[in-house]
Amino acid sequence: MIRFDNVSKRYDNGFEALSRINFAVEPGEMLFLTGHSGAGKSTLMKLIMQMERPSHGQIMVDGHDLNRMSSSQIPYYRRNIGVVFQNHQLLFDRSVFDNVALPLQIAGLSHHEIGKRVRAALDKVSLLEKERLNPIVLSGGEQQRVGIARAVVNKPTMLLADEPTGNLDPELSEEIMTLFRQFNEVGVTIMIASHDVELLKRMNKRILGLVEGKLVHDGVLW
Ligand code: ADP
Ligand code: ADP
Repeated sequence: MIRFDNVSKRYDNGFEALSRINFAVEPGEMLFLTGHSGAGKSTLMKLIMQMERPSHGQIMVDGHDLNRMSSSQIPYYRRNIGVVFQNHQLLFDRSVFDNVALPLQIAGLSHHEIGKRVRAALDKVSLLEKERLNPIVLSGGEQQRVGIARAVVNKPTMLLADEPTGNLDPELSEEIMTLFRQFNEVGVTIMIASHDVELLKRMNKRILGLVEGKLVHDGVLW
């Protein structure tokens, strides 16, 4: 599903955020990406999302060679990747429903189709009854679930989450992880960046460990 071959990323200021990274992720895997702040986790995810280009090496995602993808193909490519952020980036000038509907409106789906898919996504995160509310009145955990509903509403084959539990207490983190597991069980490939060691221990999944831009670990627990 994802393959990095000797991938390096040097930013315009000359800083090398990732150095010669190699790994492969099978379809349907759920794995974690860890490392201290500044280790390169976000950069790695941005490369997968085509928000940044590698300076060296090859990235294959779902059969696409990202170096060969034209900029006009990128929006279509991104529809297959759901993204969840720590600060969930919800819009507080519209309802929960409209937040989740946004990617579908951009994709140009019909009203009817949007309604069906948004309610299906909100149902999966148990927020169907809150669709009319402004997300500002929701709790942190509920807001994160709205972010997850928005990430999956396009039925992506892959979900990338950057510190999705960073602001949540352990109980709510667990709830969010349960949701990710449920999506994983129906075949979605999931990569989660987290530096929460307790969470990593509990999950007992494959972990890619980054230190200063180098991949120093690939396997379960350290
Ligand atoms: P985090 O550690 O939470 O992943 P950072 O604080 O490293 O995030 O980065 C926040 C944002 O600022 C990111 O989008 C990153 O690309 C950008 N950024 C970080 N460091 C620099 C820098 N030295 N120059 C320009 N942009 C940067
Ligand atoms: P993490 O997500 O693990 O905190 P990042 O990928 O955000 O790490 O950042 C890795 C390193 O790259 C950091 O030192 C950060 O300051 C630097 N960096 C991130 N984005 C940029 C950018 N746009 N320009 C220059 N340096 C950056």
